[in-house]
Amino acid sequence: MKIGVLALQGAVAEHMRMIEMLGEEAVAIKKVEQLDDIEGIIIPGGESTTIGKLIKKYGFDSALIEFSNKKKPIFGTCAGLIILAKEINGTKDIHLGLMDVKVERNAFGRQRESFETDLEIKGVAEDFRAVFIRAPYIMEVKNDVEVLSVFDDKIVAARQGHLLGVAFHPELTLDPRLHHYFLDMIKEYRR
Ligand code: GLN
Repeated sequence: MKIGVLALQGAVAEHMRMIEMLGEEAVAIKKVEQLDDIEGIIIPGGESTTIGKLIKKYGFDSALIEFSNKKKPIFGTCAGLIILAKEINGTKDIHLGLMDVKVERNAFGRQRESFETDLEIKGVAEDFRAVFIRAPYIMEVKNDVEVLSVFDDKIVAARQGHLLGVAFHPELTLDPRLHHYFLDMIKEYRR
């Protein structure tokens, strides 16, 4: 399978390494035309305002919405989750607006700008080492969004059909279980 990583800004190489570790082909996506060749895409962590601007500039906004309409899976991590969200607390500037979640940016405060913790993630792991870096969290979920993980009473992982969003960076550890889960989602939607 060919899996894309949106390569406009952020932790691109690390996600590609994880996909390759799982024996699949990783493609750095820089042009919308490349979306036709891949089965699923990861939107990495980074800075959501920057990624959001570049998405518009290069026409990825409508292209990724179309990609999603075809039920091709999308996995947003950290800033990528913010890009997927239908609502961002305190602003009307949403990006793709695909997933029925409301997120709060930089939500863990100053003392916890960046930290690591072990998470239980439904269907994935009981002890997933998660790295949070100026992370958002999910304040509210709607419709058929399934909550996969909660930390400190905050939702930090969720799935809605072919969409997966997590508040942390699963590509910075060498634990491939969450990427494996995403590959299983792709296989499920291929049928
Ligand atoms: N704080 C960033 C934002 O709001 C997200 C940080 C990250 O992706 N590690 O976009």
